[in-house]
Amino acid sequence: MTDFAATRAFFHLPEGITYLDGNSLGPLPKSVPARLEEMLRAEWGEMLITGWNAAGWMAAPARIGDRIAHLIGAAPGTVVLGDTLSIKVYQALAAAVKMQPGRRVILSDSGNFPSDLYMAEGLIGALGAGHELRIVAPQEVSAAITDEIAVLMLTEVDYRTGRRHDMAALSAKARAAGVLTIWDLAHSAGALPVDVAGVGADFAVGCTYKYLNSGPGGPAFIYVAPEHAERVRPALSGWLGHAAPFAFEERYRPGTGIERMRVGTPPVMQIAALDAALEVWGIADIHDVRARSVALSERFIAGVEARCPDLTLGSPRDAAHRGSQVAFRHPEGYAIMQALIARGVIGDFRAPDTLRFGITPLYIGEAEIDRAVEALDEVLATRAWDMAEYKIRARVT
Ligand SMILES: *Cc1c(COP(=O)(O)O)cnc(C)c1O
Repeated sequence: MTDFAATRAFFHLPEGITYLDGNSLGPLPKSVPARLEEMLRAEWGEMLITGWNAAGWMAAPARIGDRIAHLIGAAPGTVVLGDTLSIKVYQALAAAVKMQPGRRVILSDSGNFPSDLYMAEGLIGALGAGHELRIVAPQEVSAAITDEIAVLMLTEVDYRTGRRHDMAALSAKARAAGVLTIWDLAHSAGALPVDVAGVGADFAVGCTYKYLNSGPGGPAFIYVAPEHAERVRPALSGWLGHAAPFAFEERYRPGTGIERMRVGTPPVMQIAALDAALEVWGIADIHDVRARSVALSERFIAGVEARCPDLTLGSPRDAAHRGSQVAFRHPEGYAIMQALIARGVIGDFRAPDTLRFGITPLYIGEAEIDRAVEALDEVLATRAWDMAEYKIRARVT
């Protein structure tokens, strides 16, 4: 059984802050500053360019990728780090579309994160081959999987509502129809058990700065099923995805397996931060994390519904259909969230009316949940949100 007091002690949590936004940006692991200092001074500072070999910088995207693989049910050697999630979505989609020459439809849903959909639009434009991005409601995805579809591209957990797709059922249905799947695990990796190999996902992608706590700008990851890894033709054919980067050949030849999904120079410092952050999984079990996330979410929903009748639950009521966040809706959601933040309870807001609360048991517990319920109750009961200063929209909401 995971010792959640020990996992909490792994993180720096600012005094007086109740942090319910780890689904957007995980907090700082206490070990990261020293790890970065060491990387900067002993590696960059002393080794200079020899660090690429001597400190293993060049191998890090695959080596640390293996640690992510372990968390998402992937075999070693099938995950690599680099770039941002938007880039990894583009790569996966470009590779999948190319493997389906006879089909023209990319199927996604209206619960997907806009960047994933925008990337699909951009790819379709670049290909100029008459592909269609078909966006259906989340509950209509299953029925829309037909043999007309080339690729099914979904995010398992909806960034706004926390609604969770049935990854196993949809993957099986897609496979039976000859449809390739791309699963975005941005709100899954580190939040709940994932089994990409078990469900037969063809591609998976995700970011590391949310539930994996690598810090702002941390690298994304990409998984390619072993059966496809030697077949995919990377659209972003950068030199570090080449079979022999230091042969400096004029023509591109894809690297071995997952290595070909690398593009350019890896973010070595951010990978070092991620490596240190992943140490928490040495003492945390993802199944325990999930069970506690469900219990804390239920406590939060029950508390808010008992005390804040003006808020409407925006997440599925059944925990099995929810990820690790809870959404409540209110027309003045933005101002309410600003008032909450002013009281030290940090969640976030997603237009048009959603208050979002990340439930992250590695470092929050019952006390934080109860404190958030209390602050919400106070803000609503006293209309504390109804102040001009809480209605000014910042650049990041
Ligand atoms: C957070 C998130 C992103 C963000 O992409 P970046 O390129 O890392 O900014 C993309 N897709 C989904 C589903 C997300 O949740």
